[in-house]
Amino acid sequence: MIIAIDGPAGSGKSAIARMVGENTGFTYINSGLFYRALTRKVLDTGCDPANPDHRDQVLQIARESTISWRDGVLYLDHAPVSEHGLRTDEVDAHVAQLSSLPEVRAVVNQALRQSARNQDSVVEGRDITTVVFPDADVKIYLDADIEARAQRRYAESTSELSLEELRAAIAERDRRDRDKREGSLLLSEDAVYLDTSDLTIDTVYDRVMNTIRMKR
Ligand code: C5P
Repeated sequence: MIIAIDGPAGSGKSAIARMVGENTGFTYINSGLFYRALTRKVLDTGCDPANPDHRDQVLQIARESTISWRDGVLYLDHAPVSEHGLRTDEVDAHVAQLSSLPEVRAVVNQALRQSARNQDSVVEGRDITTVVFPDADVKIYLDADIEARAQRRYAESTSELSLEELRAAIAERDRRDRDKREGSLLLSEDAVYLDTSDLTIDTVYDRVMNTIRMKR
């Protein structure tokens, strides 16, 4: 069984998907980390995902990378990757540009399907309900207004940015994530929509679990 959760940055999907995974025994897969790990690798080679002159090298890096998820850990080129190093302002600022490349998305999509193969999984991201697992058994779209999302990121203290800068950075990433040629953030017709702006995480979790119970 596949539970697919999509939504914009800061909508609570990672926290909720992790809780669902812990409480159902399903494998929890965070697809954003796949894009973040590839972004870190590209930046470390001195390439800029937004620079058309670097495009060939960027695509070659993506194609030659092996990326997988096992037991809650992301592996890039067979080495475990620490999530901590992927949640930086620098990766935040470049990841939407890298993930807008269809060739990169093809690499990640295949890795995601392989990671969820033969096991019950809860997978979250931007195009999980629409592209990666269009036949998912449960589809949920978590949303929240920009203010709530910026406040949540600010409270996480993983960023050096001020609240105002964070709001602008999230709005810019939203714009890029909604404008993609492939894999843009869309509300699937058959997804359950939940606005979490004014809800506590426990309330969101209860509603998501009720939806899952109804579908199972
Ligand atoms: O979920 P998170 O905010 O960590 O994702 C980081 C970025 O990875 C997103 O802003 C988006 O550009 C990209 N992404 C994507 N498709 C997914 C998951 C993430 O394009 N399924």
